[in-house]
Amino acid sequence: MTEPQFQLSRVSGAPVSDEELIADLQRIASALGSDTVPQKTYGARGTFDYSTLIRRFGSWNNALRLAGLSIANEINISDERLFENLLVLWQHFGRQPRRSELASPPSVISQTPYNRRFGSWTAALEAFVSFANGAGAESPTASAGVTPSRRTGRDPSLRLRWHVLQRDRFCCRGCGTSPALTTGVELHVDHIVPWSKGGETVLENLQTLCSVCNLGKSNVGEPIIPPDLREKPRRPVNSDVRAQGKDHGV
Ligand SMILES: [Zn+2]
Repeated sequence: MTEPQFQLSRVSGAPVSDEELIADLQRIASALGSDTVPQKTYGARGTFDYSTLIRRFGSWNNALRLAGLSIANEINISDERLFENLLVLWQHFGRQPRRSELASPPSVISQTPYNRRFGSWTAALEAFVSFANGAGAESPTASAGVTPSRRTGRDPSLRLRWHVLQRDRFCCRGCGTSPALTTGVELHVDHIVPWSKGGETVLENLQTLCSVCNLGKSNVGEPIIPPDLREKPRRPVNSDVRAQGKDHGV
C-alpha cells in the first residue's frame, strides 16, 4: 500500500458536516469490503470519534441506515423485527425476496441475524411464512382514548398486511401493476373506507394500492373502490409486459 504523498489534515475543532461523517462511514465499510461497520471497528479505523456520529444521528444504527449500510451486528433482534424486514422486502419486490437482497435497502437487517436465528435462508423464509399465515390476522384492538364504538386500531398487523397483499397477489387493485413486473412500483396497504371516517382495520376494508393510485385517491378525497372488489384481482398477463416493453421502446 502506498501512502498518499500529501494529505490535508483536518483542522482540529473544525465543524464536520453530516455528509463528511456519512462518507467516512461508507469509506470504512468499503475498506472492510462489508455492508456494515461495527461501532468498535469504526472507533479503531474511522477519522472521527464514533460518539460524534451517535450524537449527530441519534444512534449508531441510524448512522448505518443513512449511509445505506446494514445493521449486521445488532444482537437480540426480535423475531418480529426479522419478519417485519422480510415483509418489507416481499412488499417491495412483489415476490419472495432473495438472500442477496438483504444486503441493500429497503432491507435494514443483513443475512447474519437470520442465519443465527434460523440456521439458513430457506428456514428463515419458512418461519416467516408460517408466522404470517398463523392465527391472529386481526388488527390490534382499539387502544385507550379511541371511541368505544371502534373495534380496531389504525395500523394493520404484520399478519393482516401479509393477508391483504397475498389476497391481492401483490398487485395494485386500482391499476393492476406490481413491482414484480415494473421496477419502482411501490405498494401500500390502504383502508378502503378511511379509518378516520369509521373504516375498520379488517381484511375486507383493506386493499393493495400502488403509490400512484393511492396518491390520486387522497387528492380526490374519495376512496377507490374497484368495481371488481368482490372478484379475484386480475392476474397480470403477458400482454401487460409486452405493452410495457413497447412504451419503453424495447
Ligand atoms: Zn395503481
